[in-house]
Amino acid sequence: SPASARPHVLLLCSPCMGHLIPFAELARRLVADHGLAATILFAAAMDAPSEHYAALASSVPDGVDLVVLPAPPADALPPSTPVRERVLNAAVSAVPRVRDIARSLTSTGPLTALVVDMASVPARDVATELGVPCYMFFTSPWMLLSLFLHLPELDAGLVGEYRDATEPIRLPGCVPIHARELPGSLLADRSSETYAGFLSLAKDASRVDGILVNTFRDLEPAVGEGGTDCVKGMPVHAVGPLVWTRPFGVNREPEHARLIAWLDQKPRGSVVFLSFGSGGTLTRRQTTELALALEATGRPFVWAAKRPHENTADGAFFGTGRRGDDDDDPLGFLPRGFVERTSGAGLVLLSWAPQTAILAHAAVGCFVTHCGWNSSLESILNGVPMVAWPLYAEQKMNAAMLEAHAGVAARVNAAGFVCKEEIVSVIRRVMDGDEATTMRRRVGELRDRATHALTMHGSSTLTLAKVTDVWKSSTTPSEGK
Ligand code: UDP
Repeated sequence: SPASARPHVLLLCSPCMGHLIPFAELARRLVADHGLAATILFAAAMDAPSEHYAALASSVPDGVDLVVLPAPPADALPPSTPVRERVLNAAVSAVPRVRDIARSLTSTGPLTALVVDMASVPARDVATELGVPCYMFFTSPWMLLSLFLHLPELDAGLVGEYRDATEPIRLPGCVPIHARELPGSLLADRSSETYAGFLSLAKDASRVDGILVNTFRDLEPAVGEGGTDCVKGMPVHAVGPLVWTRPFGVNREPEHARLIAWLDQKPRGSVVFLSFGSGGTLTRRQTTELALALEATGRPFVWAAKRPHENTADGAFFGTGRRGDDDDDPLGFLPRGFVERTSGAGLVLLSWAPQTAILAHAAVGCFVTHCGWNSSLESILNGVPMVAWPLYAEQKMNAAMLEAHAGVAARVNAAGFVCKEEIVSVIRRVMDGDEATTMRRRVGELRDRATHALTMHGSSTLTLAKVTDVWKSSTTPSEGK
C-alpha cells in the first residue's frame, strides 16, 4: 500500500543516543514488517547536532522520517544543570511541536499510535486529545522497568534511604538488587528534587496504554512477570533486542574499511574491544591506568576512547569530549609513548566507532563495556562475552544481571578506581580458561535465541505484531464491525 495510506505511528524520543538507536530500529520494523508508516521526532537538547547524531541521521532506515525538534533556548537552564534534567527539559519543551505535527499528520491520513520514551511521557496528553493510544518504548532492561513500576510501592514501604537498606530489593524473576547497584544519582537522597521527579515519572508511567521493552524472554524470562504480560496493571511487551542494524554514517567508509581490514589480520577471538557508550567518560588517572593495563595484557585491542572528564562519568553525553578541535594532539590524554608502543597491536578511535560492525567481527573476543543496554544487547547478539565496567545510570544493575543471571560477563569492582592488575585479570577471566569457555558457550546460546526471537515467527516479532494489530484495529475498524 502507498505509504500515505498506511496508518502512521509517531515516535517521540528524548535527546539520548541510547534511546534514538533502538527507536530507529523499532521504526524500521514497524514500516518493514507491520505495514505502518513511521515518523521519529527527536527532541534536541542542543542546537548543534553531535557527531553521533549526524552518524545516525545519515543512515535512517528507508521509509522512516526523522524530524529534529528545536532545542530549548541555550540559556533556559544554568550551565551546571545535570544531563538528566536537560533531557527532561528538552522532552517537555517539545510537547507543543509534537501536538502540531500530530495534528497535521491526522489531516493527511490515519494516526494510529504515539510511542514515547521514558523521558517524554508528558506528550501522552497529545495522544489523549487525538484519541490514539500512547505506548512507552522502554530502552533499558525489564529489570529496570520492574524497579520503576514497583517504585511507588517500594517508596511507601521504605524507612530511611535506599543506600542504608541491609536487604537487597527482590523483584519477581530478577536478580536481587543490592543498594550499591541502584541508579545512585536518582535514588541517592529521598528528600531531593531529583528523587521526587523520578518518583513522579514512575507514577506517571502507569498512565500510558502499554509498554514495549527492549528485551527478550530468553534473557529476562520474568518480563511481564510470569507470562501474565501485565505488571501493576500495565501491559508489558518484550519486543527486543532491537539494536543498530544500519551502515555507519556517510563519509566514514574508507576509515571503517581500514578498521575491518586491520581486524581481518587478527586471530579469531583475540581482540579486546573497549567502549563506554555515547556518553561515558573516565577520569584522567583511570584512563592512564586502563591504557597501561591494555599494554600489559599484550593482546590486540580497539579502544573507542574519549577525553577524560574529572567530575562526571557522563561527560560526553551530548557529544562533547571526543575530538578536541582545540587540541594539537587529540591523543594527548594517553600516557606518554602509549600510542607508539602499542602501534600495530592496538587502535585508539576518537570518533564515533562502528560498534556493531566491530562486535560482529570474528576477531573480537571480549567487549569491555559500560553496560549501557544497547551495548549489552549488541554484545549478546554477536555472541561476545563482556567485561562489565558500569559507570552511571542503571549500568550497575545491568552489570549484575549480565554476570549473575545471564552468565555472559565478569564485573570489575565498580566501587571506585579500577587498578591495572584487576583490569588485566578480569580480561583474562573473560578470554582464557574454563570460566571463559562457559561464558562463551552461554553467550552463544543467548545469541541464537535472540536471533530467533527476531525472526518472522520469533517471540519478539509476534509480540510486536499483536501490539500493532491493536493499534490498527483502533484506527481503521474493519468492515462489518
Ligand atoms: N555507539 C557507537 N559508536 C560509539 C559509541 C556508541 O556505535 O563510538 C553506539 C552503540 O553501538 C550503542 C549506542 O551507541 O548502540 C550506545 O548505547 P548504550 O545504551 O550502550 O549506551 P549509552 O550511550 O546510552 O550510555
